[in-house]
Amino acid sequence: MEGRDKLTNVESVINTRRENLFGKSLAEMEAFFVSSGEKKFRGAQVFQWMYQRGASSFSEMTDVSKALRERLEETADIHSVRQVQVLKSSEQDGLATCKFLFELNDGRKIESVYIPDGERRTVCVSTQAGCAVGCLFCATGWMGFGRNLTAGEIVGQLVHIRTHTDHGITNVVFMGMGEPFLNYDETMKAADILCDGKGPGLASRRITFSTSGIVPNIYRFADEKRPYNLAISLNATTEEVRRRIMPITRKYPLDELMKSVRYLNAKRRDPVTLEYVLLAGVNDTDEDARRLKRLASEHGRCKVNVIPYNPIEGPSLQRPSQERVDFFMRELSVLHSPLTLRRSRGQDISAACGQLAIRE
Ligand code: SAH
Ligand code: SF4
Repeated sequence: MEGRDKLTNVESVINTRRENLFGKSLAEMEAFFVSSGEKKFRGAQVFQWMYQRGASSFSEMTDVSKALRERLEETADIHSVRQVQVLKSSEQDGLATCKFLFELNDGRKIESVYIPDGERRTVCVSTQAGCAVGCLFCATGWMGFGRNLTAGEIVGQLVHIRTHTDHGITNVVFMGMGEPFLNYDETMKAADILCDGKGPGLASRRITFSTSGIVPNIYRFADEKRPYNLAISLNATTEEVRRRIMPITRKYPLDELMKSVRYLNAKRRDPVTLEYVLLAGVNDTDEDARRLKRLASEHGRCKVNVIPYNPIEGPSLQRPSQERVDFFMRELSVLHSPLTLRRSRGQDISAACGQLAIRE
């Protein structure tokens, strides 16, 4: 009896030492196999199975020898996010927007949104459980900060959705829950895995990060010459209003933020996008529209994306009237770079990120 107990203890120690391979880069996978006395190419083989073919267990990896698969089952794991709910939008536009609620290892919940739009099929992924930035208009901000996601938990959202939807994924936006530039290393690692030809193989120009303006990491992003698109959640044209709706402005003032935008634009061909959530009576005056136009053109031909506020429970904020939205679009139409209006999709499934996880 005593002997059996000891054995069980030993087994549980071995189990807790199992290494989770999901989230490793190709180089890390190769190193893992070499250090376990295997051939380097096994790393690429298992990498491909996990990220490209969506395998969730070693037993599915039929071109890996049975002996190695069994050894892997004893020593390693493939573990990322677990789906707990999917909500399908009833909007009738051909394909439906879907929102996925995932559970992490520690029970925390995060969400991702799948947005098909003609040829473009975008996944919006989360980078943190909750968010510490606390913007007034954002459901995730009201949750407070939980923790950073690992690269594996970020990549896992896309791999899961790709395996469970029919038409493949063309674009990824890091605009779900959390502030990607406060989880910079894991977020960049995730994007690099997504673009690896032996993994999901996405094109880097189809990946976009959105940041609330973590200025030092905007410089870092520029200096590292990351090949991805960057969007900045500007959302106000004066220091005072921005401080009110985005408290991070106290740490990184508006003019510092715009300096970093100018720096990034000077370094690359694809300009930064300025995102502007329109809030009735807060940041939607005629003067705001003119100042936004100036900010966009005086810091290196920024693109602009106007986003009418998607109402959330909590703050007393309102969606602007159509007349205000039209005014902004008209005023900005003279810019020499692309101007877009974000259509609000999936309102019936609370597709503004954070809204579903909050309810849970
Ligand atoms: N933390 C990052 C990325 C996640 S938020 C950032 O702030 O950029 C992604 C985008 O959604 C941001 O542009 C943000 O301003 C916008 N957003 C947040 N809550 C919104 C709401 N209720 N309605 C419309 N847009 C919202
Ligand atoms: Fe965080 Fe972005 Fe929401 Fe602000 S808008 S609270 S930075 S997730």
